[in-house]
Amino acid sequence: MTLQNNGLAEDGVNLRLNFSTIKRPSYPSRCLHFLSSVKKDAEASIGDGNAPTSPLSLNILIAGAGLGGLASAVALARRGHKVTIFEQASILGEVGAGIQIPSNSARLLLRWGLGPYLTDIAVEPESIAIRRWKNGDLIGWTQLIPDFRRSFGAPYYVIHRAHLHDALHKLAMKLGVKVELASTVVDYDLDAPSLTLENGSVHYGDLVIGADGLKSKARAKILGGVDDPPKLAGFAAYRATVNVEKMKSDPDTAWILTKPGLNLWTGNLRHVMTYTIASGKAFNVVLSHPEDSDPSTWKQETAMDDMRTHFAGWDYRLMKIINMIDKTLKWPIMSGTPLRTWVAPSYKCLILGDAAHTMVPYMSQGAAMAVEDGAALGEILSHIHSHDELPAAIKLFEKIRMERSYQMQEASLLNGKVWHFPDGPLQQARDEGMRPEVEGKHFIESPNQWSDPVTQHWSYGYDAEDTAREAWFKRKKEQEQKNGTKIK
Ligand SMILES: Cc1cc2nc3c(=O)[nH]c(=O)nc-3n(C[C@H](O)[C@H](O)[C@H](O)COP(=O)(O)OP(=O)(O)OC[C@H]3O[C@@H](n4cnc5c(N)ncnc54)[C@H](O)[C@@H]3O)c2cc1C
Repeated sequence: MTLQNNGLAEDGVNLRLNFSTIKRPSYPSRCLHFLSSVKKDAEASIGDGNAPTSPLSLNILIAGAGLGGLASAVALARRGHKVTIFEQASILGEVGAGIQIPSNSARLLLRWGLGPYLTDIAVEPESIAIRRWKNGDLIGWTQLIPDFRRSFGAPYYVIHRAHLHDALHKLAMKLGVKVELASTVVDYDLDAPSLTLENGSVHYGDLVIGADGLKSKARAKILGGVDDPPKLAGFAAYRATVNVEKMKSDPDTAWILTKPGLNLWTGNLRHVMTYTIASGKAFNVVLSHPEDSDPSTWKQETAMDDMRTHFAGWDYRLMKIINMIDKTLKWPIMSGTPLRTWVAPSYKCLILGDAAHTMVPYMSQGAAMAVEDGAALGEILSHIHSHDELPAAIKLFEKIRMERSYQMQEASLLNGKVWHFPDGPLQQARDEGMRPEVEGKHFIESPNQWSDPVTQHWSYGYDAEDTAREAWFKRKKEQEQKNGTKIK
């Protein structure tokens, strides 16, 4: 958020100037955050879905209608671009159960007008509790309500993936996005630009986006034919939902449903993340554990027994929940490494979402980064006036999104280390570091990245549209200074 957006302009050294011209510090500081409370209500600033349309309307083709493809389509269509998505599946949907929508993503989605579609399906948890594997003792604590809305101007939601996907699809439809199903993209012409479908049809646009997930075909093409795909991260996750009626019937499991919250049990190389979804009608469980074997050798038939064996001896209340699972799916945990580029030399074709920055799910930010990608692209493209400006816009998009998403990739890997210490000195020091937040005492740092004030602000306070806009105008100013001209 810029203070200029609040109607506050930059001043010089004269301390007696009007207070409304307080300059935003160039150093990392939140000392002026209180000013946002003067600026209407933070919720009101989220907006009603409307945005100024772009002076140049582009014809944009997207491969993939996952969360990233749909979010990008919404971000672009609301700016007046014509968007068509080509999706290989014949029916739209999402695999897996729950997904977290952290505040940095929720703020954008609400600003785009997704709010009405989330009513009654998104859950806003009160807190995140980190628990000891053996007995469920509280070792870490993040207060989400009211802290996250107050600090970051947006809620932290959890939701069923299918519901989020459906909401984005409905909003995309409302904005005029065309979604072509059963349309597998088999090739790209990076210069035209165009994409070719399995049925041989060729589709041309001004910009082609590969939002085709971690097994992306567009990525290899953009990398000059030599792919750099995400690798197995040494972990797999069992994903499941538990019937809440069953849980309510046992006091050892009913307690967890009394308030909507995220509960994370952590232990040696393993963790279990839980939360309610579907307005409290379903309970989502993700059980992460070490796994080095090739996913093609996995037997989904033995997954239930394997899952229970992995967590044998953990908190008996958690074990009761695990024993209530009827079916589960074992899922590989993958991570990419920073790619050389996301953009074709023509600047007319790019990748985003998991295709560009697959990350382990331990910051719960993979889809959020895809939403931010769409937001940044929509924002930057809304400032260009001619096709000649496209290369500069796409170059800037790549720069700011690479920096942000690869830092998030790093933060996600770090949680995979810090959560998984075996009992011993590191685990004890970590738990000691989180003790103040558990005891409600003041703290200025925490091994819990949801709570650590610096990480928290970086992670949830980030506004992808503001950042993109500021970067575009900074670049424009630099160009003007360099050329001694004024650009439109
Ligand atoms: C266990 C787990 C938990 C997670 N939890 C969270 C969380 O809490 N919060 C969060 O933000 N993220 C989370 N993530 C990450 C998140 O799921 C992904 O980052 C996100 O779904 C990626 O979206 P995407 O659209 O880029 O890719 P995908 O969801 O993979 O979508 C790609 C789409 O492209 C289509 N496609 C592929 N190839 C072609 C082709 N050739 N032609 C046409 N269509 C094609 C596919 O069918 C698919 O629809 C989690 C991930 C895992 C594994």
